Amino acid sequence: MTAPASVTITPVFVADLLAEGERMPLYVHVIDHPDARVLVDTGMTEPHPAVQAALDPSLRPLSEQDFDLAGVDIVVNTHLHADHCGGNHLFAGRPFYVQRRELDDALGEDGYTIREWVEAPGVRYVPVDGELELLAGLRLVPAPGHTRGMQVVVVETGGRPVVVGGDVAVWHGEFDEPPTEGRLRVRALDPELVWLAHEHEPWRPRTV
Ligand SMILES: [Zn+2]
Repeated sequence: MTAPASVTITPVFVADLLAEGERMPLYVHVIDHPDARVLVDTGMTEPHPAVQAALDPSLRPLSEQDFDLAGVDIVVNTHLHADHCGGNHLFAGRPFYVQRRELDDALGEDGYTIREWVEAPGVRYVPVDGELELLAGLRLVPAPGHTRGMQVVVVETGGRPVVVGGDVAVWHGEFDEPPTEGRLRVRALDPELVWLAHEHEPWRPRTV
């Protein structure tokens, strides 16, 4: 199915983090679909001792910028690393779509994430097993690699699809590194572009 032409995807900058000695941005993405407003990942809203030293985050939480929290109908977590679910508590009561495998790993493995952010009051998950057409032309697609339960959001535009990829690649160069199942799957979609959580600009596959 093809998404309505009016669908838009907007990156929202929520933090600047340290990773392997370099500062990198953190974005979440808003997909405006005529049937619902979908937020992909939620960033972070507060410091936490478990990540403070490693990530040295400089935060710009959704709750402290001009962002309509109440306007979000559905949340998708690409995965549950702390920097992707730290704002989940802001959307209590909304459905949170995550792969079941990701939820199991995040709740079962020590040191995987900040569990209290995953299990914030009022946050209830809809565990997904594999692909799911969430809205017309908008699909959740498993993309394991960065984590086993990672998923991406694919928007069918009628032409080449657009992907909201979370950490399927943390930086553009990762698409050229040893392939993960997730990156192979995303490349096989022949996307026009892939929005990533930690890059300012979307990745565009080289076309010959
Ligand atoms: Zn991650």
